[in-house]
Amino acid sequence: MKEHLYINGEWVSPDLGGGFDVINPATEEVFHRAPAGSEEDINHAVNAARNAFEGDWRKTTGKDRAALLNGIADCIERDKDTLAHLEVTDNGKPLPEALWDIEDTAGCFRYYAELAETLDEQQDTPLPLPDARFSCHIRHEPIGVAGQIIPWNYPMLMAAWKVAPALAAGATMVLKPSELTPITALELGSYADEVGLPAGVLNIVTGLGVEAGVPLARHPGVDKLAFTGSVPTGSKIMSAAAQQIKNVSLELGGKSAFILFDDADIEAAVEWVMFGIFWNQGQVCSATSRLLVQHDIADRFLARLKQEADKLPLGNGMEPGVLLGPLVSREQYHKVLRFIDSARMDGVEMLCGGDAGMEKGYFVRPTVLLEPPLNHPVWSDEIFGPVLAVKRFKTEAEAVQLANQSRFGLAAAVMSADQDRCARVANTMRAGIVWINCSQPTFSQAPWGGMKQSGIGRELGHWGLHNYLETKQVTRYQASEPWGWYLK
Ligand code: NAD
Repeated sequence: MKEHLYINGEWVSPDLGGGFDVINPATEEVFHRAPAGSEEDINHAVNAARNAFEGDWRKTTGKDRAALLNGIADCIERDKDTLAHLEVTDNGKPLPEALWDIEDTAGCFRYYAELAETLDEQQDTPLPLPDARFSCHIRHEPIGVAGQIIPWNYPMLMAAWKVAPALAAGATMVLKPSELTPITALELGSYADEVGLPAGVLNIVTGLGVEAGVPLARHPGVDKLAFTGSVPTGSKIMSAAAQQIKNVSLELGGKSAFILFDDADIEAAVEWVMFGIFWNQGQVCSATSRLLVQHDIADRFLARLKQEADKLPLGNGMEPGVLLGPLVSREQYHKVLRFIDSARMDGVEMLCGGDAGMEKGYFVRPTVLLEPPLNHPVWSDEIFGPVLAVKRFKTEAEAVQLANQSRFGLAAAVMSADQDRCARVANTMRAGIVWINCSQPTFSQAPWGGMKQSGIGRELGHWGLHNYLETKQVTRYQASEPWGWYLK
């Protein structure tokens, strides 16, 4: 585990020499002291990224960068078991989920390696103009220095979603991982060394939000801010970007609806509803945390859901068979329990769960709350834990109206045997991602991001690459006759 920051291709001690404890959420024990970067370290890292951007890195082809991205993917695949174990210790998620994340992380680097190569083919594309005296071609150029700030729920995967497209585009970057889960993102520094990434292209500064995140967001040498995290922090990032008219993309929270119609297969529904809210302990921005279930099947469905939720194996993510680990931190654990307590105090019926799972560790049992009022925080706010709020509906129109009645718009799911109905509902959802007959599957190829307060812009796919590219037109006057406006 790394004890230094990765700046300008070197492992350096933080300027103020400080560190912060990293805690295993299953045992509540401190297992590492991570380096705490501050403003000086951010300045150093942004300068390194600027120098690298102004140097030879910009002259690399997409093919050159693809080789580096594939090299990083090779390193991740080689070390996947170690990385997955680190992720479990740091974040708490069950080992099979961590392994899945690490494979996805490698897959994300490989996918952007492919896109980096296609960028070479798309460079200097002619654009037909209506005036033959002019020709025009389009260039895609790297955006410059990116400041990338990420959360703790998928520590290495969230780093990949930012770093891989930025490298593919030819940008340089300063990555600021979450202070709750700084371990695996720092490993990317070793891989950068190993594959020969030029110094300064990737810089990694761990630290607290106020000490390292704020100076990164405010730094005038940063051309683009890419942020994933909560709405309140996203709003501050946007304000910081506004001061200097920086390009900004925001991947924020959600309170996504799952609409379950009465013709759906109940067993499949139980599986996907559970996956949508208990996967990663419900600490998923796109978690389908509001369930709308049609009246006629509601009782039957809820009885089956309770049976399965009650027996979901809870425990240390390292233990075989565990499907629900601890929440990431003491703070998150108390936050989730406060939501549950508020529901209890307000008389909301609890189908199952509702309490802490074990004596030690930040465990919360899978919890299902029935028919909270529309304005209750457990229905309207992002809880970010294994807590599902359920309401019954009668008609399709009512379900759609309830699903869209949210200040968030990240994702939605719909399940029905009637595929026309699924398509119709999908088209009316005010959400950036809609799943039909499933919940949560995520692919590097498909655009990811939200409407309304869930964010601005899209990551992944070629949309993710374009976050780190500027589009330039180069227009040439090619006629043999003079322009003749002033000089007749
Ligand atoms: P957070 O906003 O508390 O922190 C995110 C990052 O911002 C951390 O690295 C933190 O150190 C940093 N930070 C905190 N304050 C800052 C400031 N003032 N200036 C600059 N940086 C600052 O979020 P979190 O608790 O780490 O993550 C959970 C949130 O992330 C949830 O709301 C979840 O929905 C969201 N999320 C969204 C997506 C998505 O793709 N839409 C994916 C994952 C998580």
